[in-house]
Amino acid sequence: MQDFEYLMPTNLDQAIGLLKKYENKAALIAGGTDVMVKIGKTRKAPDVLISLRRLSALRYIKKNGGYHIGALTTHRMLEQSTLVQSELSALHDAASQVGSVQIRNVGTLGGNICNAAPSADTAGPLLVLDATAVLEGPLGRRRVPLKEFFTGTYRTVRKPDEVLVEMEIPEDLGRYGSAYWKHTRRKAMELPLIGIAVALKLSQDNSQILDSRIALTVAAPTPIRAYPAEDFLKGKVIADDVLKEAGRIASSADCCTIRTSLRCEAWYREEIVRVFVPRMAKLAAERVKNR
Ligand SMILES: Cc1cc2nc3c(=O)[nH]c(=O)nc-3n(C[C@H](O)[C@H](O)[C@H](O)COP(=O)(O)OP(=O)(O)OC[C@H]3O[C@@H](n4cnc5c(N)ncnc54)[C@H](O)[C@@H]3O)c2cc1C
Repeated sequence: MQDFEYLMPTNLDQAIGLLKKYENKAALIAGGTDVMVKIGKTRKAPDVLISLRRLSALRYIKKNGGYHIGALTTHRMLEQSTLVQSELSALHDAASQVGSVQIRNVGTLGGNICNAAPSADTAGPLLVLDATAVLEGPLGRRRVPLKEFFTGTYRTVRKPDEVLVEMEIPEDLGRYGSAYWKHTRRKAMELPLIGIAVALKLSQDNSQILDSRIALTVAAPTPIRAYPAEDFLKGKVIADDVLKEAGRIASSADCCTIRTSLRCEAWYREEIVRVFVPRMAKLAAERVKNR
């Protein structure tokens, strides 16, 4: 493998300056748990790796006019945050199940999202929490709703000279509950065969679904929202047959393009969506009641 330069800027401006200077020859590295695996597998590295590790100002979880999570926040920080556990439960479900403790200690939220794998565990929860990606580059900051962020498998709208700074989640989550199901063959160190995130907003008496959001991973080339299933649930009184029908719609071709892969056959993935959308909706509803 060829040699590469490893640069360690200490602030965001320096990092953006280096990206601009080296243009297409450079790549960012945060925790390195995707980047280093890729370099190892392909035996190819960019000429310059720009490490974000010293940008400790981008490691935070704040509630302040919405929720703000710095791009360098690790999965372990999300797992250990009581704020995330109680108010952004689906994200807590996901972050706590990424890889192993060692991976969660170094792997970052920003890396998970910018890598843009169809299986990224935090993508579904962030989609149902209606998150927005905040990107910064030489021309300043811009905000991109996460539902518009992924453009293909391992592809995003991020320009080569931009750094993902944080994920923003709108504040009005008072009557929302959320949950994430990662379907795997074993309990640890597995990417999901399918990932299902659900967020529901319930009426004051917890009987009616005022808003619903459903996201699926490994069900299409990118993480997706299952809009027809969401629309079906809105305004309905919560009941087993209603949730079951939402599961059926979510698993149909109206919502996703599930494929057979080496890891799993399509029919099995569809079954998991059909069965677990209702289960995650019930868990999300329980969490509204318990808040
Ligand atoms: C053993 C193992 C198990 C794993 N298990 C899981 C799992 O269960 N679930 C799962 O979803 N993932 C899993 N992963 C993948 C990986 O750990 C996660 O995707 C992790 O969140 C990546 O974060 P990172 O900081 O290590 O990213 P890096 O590898 O540093 O970067 C990933 C990509 O994002 C870009 N990038 C990183 N930060 C930024 C930023 N702030 N702005 C712009 N671009 C940026 C990099 O240039 C690169 O393209 C696993 C990996 C390994 C090695």
